[in-house]
Amino acid sequence: MAIIRFTRQRQAVLEVVQASREHPDAARVFETVRETVPNISLGTVYRSLEALALEGHLIRIQQPGQATRYDARLDGHYHFICDSCGEVFDVMLELPDLSTVASKGLSGFKVQKTNVEFHGICQSCQKN
Ligand SMILES: [Zn+2]
Ligand SMILES: [Zn+2]
Repeated sequence: MAIIRFTRQRQAVLEVVQASREHPDAARVFETVRETVPNISLGTVYRSLEALALEGHLIRIQQPGQATRYDARLDGHYHFICDSCGEVFDVMLELPDLSTVASKGLSGFKVQKTNVEFHGICQSCQKN
């Protein structure tokens, strides 16, 4: 029996990420979710985020040497990651279907997933 038990805590975690535009990591989600679910632990927040990502409710954003960040926005958008402060910004862009483009250069391979990320220096870091 595959019953997905959507606990109240997990729902609260999802709502915090959905309400944030900052692509928060587990520690940031923990700080906010504690205000409504005071007895929640950082471990529960972390496990909830991972489960939500596995179920397709959240997107994981991973950067080397940094905590995984989460995005509840599931529409087709891309990310700009500042290499100076680590902030993640949404990029609205219409790109061609990259799986199709890649298939042309990878004869015999089946592309199942593509991942495009933009890296650079954000506006506020450029000012400093
Ligand atoms: Zn920056
Ligand atoms: Zn995003």
